[in-house]
Amino acid sequence: MFKKFTTRLVKYSKNTCARVMEIVTPHGNITTPSFMPVGTRAFVNHMTPDDLIRAGSQIILGGNTYHMLINPGMEVIRSAGGMHRLMSWTGPMLSDSGGFQLFSLSKNAKICKITEDGAYFKNLVTGEYIHLTPKSAIEAQKIIGADIIMAFDECTAERGGREEASFAMERTHRWLLESQEIHQRSPDSCYGYSQALFGIIQGGNFQDLREKSTQFIVEANVDGIAIGGEIIGFNMEKTCEVIDWVRPLLPTHKVRYTMGVGLNPQDLINVVEKGIDLFDCVAPTRNARHGALYHGKVGKTVNKLQFFSEEKNGRLLIKKSIYARDNRPILQGCLCYTCQHFSRAYLHFLFKQGSSLYNQLGCIHNVYTMHQVCQEIRASILDE
Ligand SMILES: [Zn+2]
Repeated sequence: MFKKFTTRLVKYSKNTCARVMEIVTPHGNITTPSFMPVGTRAFVNHMTPDDLIRAGSQIILGGNTYHMLINPGMEVIRSAGGMHRLMSWTGPMLSDSGGFQLFSLSKNAKICKITEDGAYFKNLVTGEYIHLTPKSAIEAQKIIGADIIMAFDECTAERGGREEASFAMERTHRWLLESQEIHQRSPDSCYGYSQALFGIIQGGNFQDLREKSTQFIVEANVDGIAIGGEIIGFNMEKTCEVIDWVRPLLPTHKVRYTMGVGLNPQDLINVVEKGIDLFDCVAPTRNARHGALYHGKVGKTVNKLQFFSEEKNGRLLIKKSIYARDNRPILQGCLCYTCQHFSRAYLHFLFKQGSSLYNQLGCIHNVYTMHQVCQEIRASILDE
């Protein structure tokens, strides 16, 4: 029997706005703060489900609606019995509604056009136009079958003006109500277990708009609350400012998710201290692929946690020739599979060879590091 989505606050930090929360989903439990590795295209780059579990993943972002509609398509996902079975991921999963991808695509009007009722975009594989609406985005996520699904939203540009941000916010609110109506008609996935619907706060870089959007999303009484927009995760100073604006308006018992945060381990600490529970980012796997391996450990200064590193930007660049004969692991004391078995010298060699094994081993270390940071934060809150 599948369990329903529920949340329970385990503990608040005495020193910051951080908290530990337990989330129950049909596919298992999550203890927050928790980083979600990203499998936008139905796979997490270079990592098997087993690699993800061993690295400490509790939940993944598995499948973005936009990408899934194009490839492999809803028929394939449905006939597999849903995304969990297709990917062979048995744990909790969140799916994205496609709002951010369509926002990126809409910069080219020939490929994507956003209108009041949704977005028309060109399937670059078949040349056909697909119409994605709040209704179809929710229906597609019923087929994907994630435990947490996202309302369809219009992302706000980082450098847009107030009028543009206000327009996208109002549209996001209208689309939330449409998404919610479809979801409430049938709150279950196509496979018989319930799904939680999260709404997304927009409002760009404007405090009053962010506050207005927060009030709207809170009143809609969705299962969880996400903070979106191009600026979130991209500009960390602004991200933290936005969280400070909206946090006083958020109910304490609902999950808070900043979309696209996790470029660096320190970013996780920064948003958690502001009261965030969940976050996702493609950066750990992308950085690994480009040879940037996270290097450092969480430590404490007065009452604050910090990611300390001897390396510039907290990253060890494995392509450097100084590592060609370095038999130490990436990070001394790291318990990830890669550091337990392989040296910098070997990883340097694999990277120079362009080996796919390097990608796998690098991704394992970087994703493990993000989970380890979350683990350290959780332990620190529980120890207070
Ligand atoms: Zn490691």
